[in-house]
Amino acid sequence: MAYNPYENAQEQFGKVADQIGLDAGARELLRQPMKEFHFTIPVKMDDGSTKVFKAFRIKHNDARGPAKGGIRFHPHETADTVRALSMWMTWKCAVVDIPLGGGKGGIICNPLELSAGEQERMCRGYIRGAYSQFGPNLDVPAPDSGSNSQHMLWMMDEYETMAGARYPGVITGKPVGMGGSLGRTEATGYGIVYVLKDLLDIEKTDISATTASIQGFGNVAEYAARLYSELGGKVVTISCKNSPDSPAFTVRKKSGCDIQQLTEIKKGWGIDEEKAKALGYEILPGDAWLCEDVDILIPAALENEITPANFPSISKQVRIIAEGANGPTTPDTDPLIRERGITLLPDFLVNAGGVTCSYFEQVQCNMNYFWTLEETLEKLNTAMSKAFRAVYDLAKEKNLYMRDAAYVIAINRVSEAAKLRGWI
Ligand code: NAD
Repeated sequence: MAYNPYENAQEQFGKVADQIGLDAGARELLRQPMKEFHFTIPVKMDDGSTKVFKAFRIKHNDARGPAKGGIRFHPHETADTVRALSMWMTWKCAVVDIPLGGGKGGIICNPLELSAGEQERMCRGYIRGAYSQFGPNLDVPAPDSGSNSQHMLWMMDEYETMAGARYPGVITGKPVGMGGSLGRTEATGYGIVYVLKDLLDIEKTDISATTASIQGFGNVAEYAARLYSELGGKVVTISCKNSPDSPAFTVRKKSGCDIQQLTEIKKGWGIDEEKAKALGYEILPGDAWLCEDVDILIPAALENEITPANFPSISKQVRIIAEGANGPTTPDTDPLIRERGITLLPDFLVNAGGVTCSYFEQVQCNMNYFWTLEETLEKLNTAMSKAFRAVYDLAKEKNLYMRDAAYVIAINRVSEAAKLRGWI
């Protein structure tokens, strides 16, 4: 069965809109993006030819502040994926209570197949094509899957060149020293573990007595794995692929993966399989991460990875699913997760560390004064814990599934902002 992330996002929203009796105007406004911008980017390739890339920037809602959201570089990117991701950004900013709205962008491309020069021309073309959509008080992009801090810096430079002035707050996820915030690289992964640790503390479980299995070894997964291991948790398996179109595989070490060691043998999008084997890791099929006997699953790759079809393979030992990726679990899997008594830490709560630190980056850029790593991570931990506690308490009080509790808080905040502005 093919899942459409936009339909998933609308289904999740619709279910909670029904539960809270959201009025018709608010429902119509919030179930779809406010604005969509589709365009093409012609890029001169190194061989003299021209390649045209399809690109998107979509704003779901900016009632609470300027839109915020990453730009994905992926060969299978679709307008519907970007629509869904822009919607989830609105809820994410609202649930962590930062004064920003939801937006998202994407370019249909495989950056691994482009030279540095071609990537730079594509990034600059993205800004030239959508310049009118962006601004520190309008819509502020950031990196996402496939894009990185160098891409953001080229985009900022193009924006500033066109604007004729310096606007470091126009984009986040920039390199440190060029307007970037310390801690941004770690933020999403660390944020997942801050929330996980809060949950385990409530359950009076020592994190060092737990085991985890992770899907993905990109920015989010790597830093989640790092902090989780540093706190004593044991990562048993990591699943990844070397490029968007190559098959996934799982590396396993029963005694615990050495995350630093695996980082040193990263290859393309994932891990060097041969080097991992030489270092004593077992190499298993791509979906083996899901079947491992562990306490915690962290899907941190892409959307629609946990479905009713593969849910039965999840080990009975699993007690927590922390959604590092956006939309990794399809809506029809939620009842199965709940029925089995697994605690779900929903994506737009648990992976909100990235946007929270991006917001900190904007604040620091506006002040032109930058915080230490310790200060940034402390503020991040505080923001994540506060958001988690509100969702957890509401879920307990009203006997709600944690995803629904997070939606109740987020939808109420956004619809209230739209009402106060007189939009609905
Ligand atoms: P990334 O491009 O750095 O990494 C993606 C990883 O997923 C790669 O290691 C790749 O090998 C792996 N992967 C892809 N498909 C796979 C499959 N079928 N099986 C196994 N592994 C697979 O991306 P990222 O920045 O780490 O983002 C991951 C997810 O988290 C995305 O859903 C993204 O939207 C979301 N997210 C990212 C951030 C951020 O700050 N980067 C913030 C919030 C949410």
